[in-house]
Amino acid sequence: SAKAAGKRQWCTYQPALQAGLVERHELNESLDTAIAESAFALYYQPIVDLAGGELVAFEALVRWPHERRGMVLPEEFISLAEESGQIVPLGAWVLERAAAEAARWQREIGGLRETAGRSQLRVSVNVSARQFRDAGFVDTVRRVVENSGMAPGTLVLELTESVLMRRDERVRTDMQMLGDLGVRIAIDDFGTGYSSLSYLREFPISILKIDKSFIDGLGHSQQQYALVEGIARIADTLGVQVIAEGIENTVQRDLLAAMGCPLGQGYLFARPLTADQAGLLVRDDAEPAGVRSGGKGRS
Ligand code: C2E
Ligand code: MG
Ligand code: MG
Ligand code: MG
Repeated sequence: SAKAAGKRQWCTYQPALQAGLVERHELNESLDTAIAESAFALYYQPIVDLAGGELVAFEALVRWPHERRGMVLPEEFISLAEESGQIVPLGAWVLERAAAEAARWQREIGGLRETAGRSQLRVSVNVSARQFRDAGFVDTVRRVVENSGMAPGTLVLELTESVLMRRDERVRTDMQMLGDLGVRIAIDDFGTGYSSLSYLREFPISILKIDKSFIDGLGHSQQQYALVEGIARIADTLGVQVIAEGIENTVQRDLLAAMGCPLGQGYLFARPLTADQAGLLVRDDAEPAGVRSGGKGRS
């Protein structure tokens, strides 16, 4: 009967809905606790020079080590934190931690190279739209830049096109203030969403990260190749540095290097690393060849 059908529907539908809400609520509460206790982990994925392989930067990527769920990836909690506003304190923690780690690595490299100046190793931090729009954002960045001891000009903020879409005056003035602090702006996941090359002349953007979905097809699609090459060429003409995301094989790397794309990241080079693993890489990369092979000679 209709009544039975209705009842059956109610029975299957309602618990599922409730489970979702309860789970969401639980996740929100444990996110609060995690934020209060800074119980997150930052991983660092190398960004390298495609021609020479040198380490140029790290992208900081947050994870949430959870008692029952294991290592929770950002896809599972960043959007939740954005909706609740929790992304503001979480994002501030990420910024502080990444800047402190970068400053430590830069000092270490400076020491290993016996150079007076600090290294220019960069660290790139993801910033969500909600976080960028927060009234205190620029002040948070200023405080971090001034207190971390990072070399000037080595902090990069990765924004998605959703921030730029608004085209409002505050976005522009905030970006200018960040620029005055020596902070560089990157557009993340370029090519997905609401891409417009006009962002590159409307906003002070230093870096453009071409999304993995474009890199995937490089080896077998003439069209994808032409698209990536075109983006790389326009960016270069405008003085914007290009980083290719999600490089997984040597064919992709070689095609990108050949078309003049300077930088890239992806599993081919390294997965996101713990701070300790990243530190080892930093030291290995910074040591003069003579030291590595046991001798003291430097040229
Ligand atoms: P994203 O900023 O585009 O970061 C790149 C993502 O691609 C990372 O995933 C990275 O692990 C993954 N990846 C890198 N190379 C490869 C590859 O060769 N193959 C494949 N299949 N994947 C690759 P992850 O760490 O899960 O982060 C996902 C997204 O979460 C990030 O995308 C970023 O939008 C967001 N996110 C991560 N950390 C933060 C953060 O601290 N704050 C904010 N607001 N968002 C973050
Ligand atoms: Mg990113
Ligand atoms: Mg990206
Ligand atoms: Mg992406």
